[in-house]
Amino acid sequence: MCGVAGIYAPGQDVLADMINGLFQMQHRGQDACGIALSDGERVRLHKRLGYVRKVFAKRPADDFKGFVGCGHVRYPTQGSNSRANAQPHIVETVAGPRMALCSNGDITNYHKVRAELEQRGVSFAGSNDGELILRHIAWNHFQGGMPLLDAIRSMQAEVHGAYSICLITLDRMFAVRDLHAIRPLSFGGSHGRWVVASETNALDINRVDLVGELEPGEVVEFGPQGMRRFPHPDLSALRGDWDGPAHCVFEHVYFSRPDSIAFGERSYDVRKRFGAWLAAHDTVRGDVVVPVPDSSNAVALGYAQASGLPFEFGLMRNHYIGRTFISADQPLRDDGVKLKFNPLRSVFKDKKVILVDDSIVRGTTSRKLVRMVRAAGAAEVHLRIGSPITRNSCFYGVDTPSTDELIGNRMGLDEIREHLTADSVLYMSVEGVRECLANGQNFCMACFDGRYPVPITEAKQRPGC
Ligand code: SF4
Repeated sequence: MCGVAGIYAPGQDVLADMINGLFQMQHRGQDACGIALSDGERVRLHKRLGYVRKVFAKRPADDFKGFVGCGHVRYPTQGSNSRANAQPHIVETVAGPRMALCSNGDITNYHKVRAELEQRGVSFAGSNDGELILRHIAWNHFQGGMPLLDAIRSMQAEVHGAYSICLITLDRMFAVRDLHAIRPLSFGGSHGRWVVASETNALDINRVDLVGELEPGEVVEFGPQGMRRFPHPDLSALRGDWDGPAHCVFEHVYFSRPDSIAFGERSYDVRKRFGAWLAAHDTVRGDVVVPVPDSSNAVALGYAQASGLPFEFGLMRNHYIGRTFISADQPLRDDGVKLKFNPLRSVFKDKKVILVDDSIVRGTTSRKLVRMVRAAGAAEVHLRIGSPITRNSCFYGVDTPSTDELIGNRMGLDEIREHLTADSVLYMSVEGVRECLANGQNFCMACFDGRYPVPITEAKQRPGC
């Protein structure tokens, strides 16, 4: 998972606003970040491994300025943390760097498209989807002489999968969404100042009003002629069997910050409805509802409000835990759950606890949490999950483990309960999730039901977005 942002504001230096926008989306990627800026004469790039506040602690260079920019935060995936795979990517021409692009999503026919481009003499610095997309557009535009919009349409015809893109040229910005609008991409602003971002909180921090999300396949241009929208002219011909939107439901389950609006709804509201659904379908009457913070807070709140049970923050989360932790105490270092959460015994003592989490992937964390809550004095631990059983891997930009590592693929519900040592486990149904969404039929739920909106033609063997 990653986050993209872009700002077009003639006459202004957008660096500080770009940094603020990316900082709001830090939860979407902590591996690397970068910003490309154009001052109208050349595109400059700064990208590094690390957090936004560290990489952009100060202006990278005196001339690192521009009125149009795009930026990216990248999700950590093991073995992929190279600067070459960090985004944005830029295109060098004999006249200097003239274009930059960043993308959120995964390409399902990456190897095929890359081989075709390499046959034409295109070379690659890394193995990242965003670079593939940029090289495809740049080849058709600079070598093939296509107008930029036509080059983007050509890319959309040949590159399959999920992509929410921000692209800048010397004096313009483009936002592009894949044919099924799998990943979120919103834009806002007016007149001379426009912001594009994966999450609307990046618009909020930059004080622009939300205009809306890009439609599936849409291209939006921000330039000297203002904002111009270009709907895709022929979606049905390219989309195949799944001829409609296929928004990633995991954005609402886990990824999006609750204050963000994704696919027309605020994630906070959706998560509360997930909690209410769980409460309505529960046969257990608990004493207290406790979230596994932070992504399940709103689900637990929705459950508590619908059931009339008290809501308590029984697990204190350490927000400063990083990817690596140096500790002299080896047993403690091995138990990331203890480093991350500490239970409040007074909340749990002798209680029937409704413990709410957003999802279960391998089950390792859930098992440790259940044991932690029981050791803190709970009489019973009933695990409630704000999503269906995760049975399948994602190929569209979410770094789920291989299918055979997923507990929901290896075990039935009774075995899961037994393995997690919970007194009971309740998941949502796929239909239940759809009921809780305003346009439930427009969502991809392949990790739950195996119905992939874009055919999977290649195994995923390289770092994601
Ligand atoms: S497979 Fe799951 S995580 Fe991937 S896009 Fe679909 S709903 Fe989202």
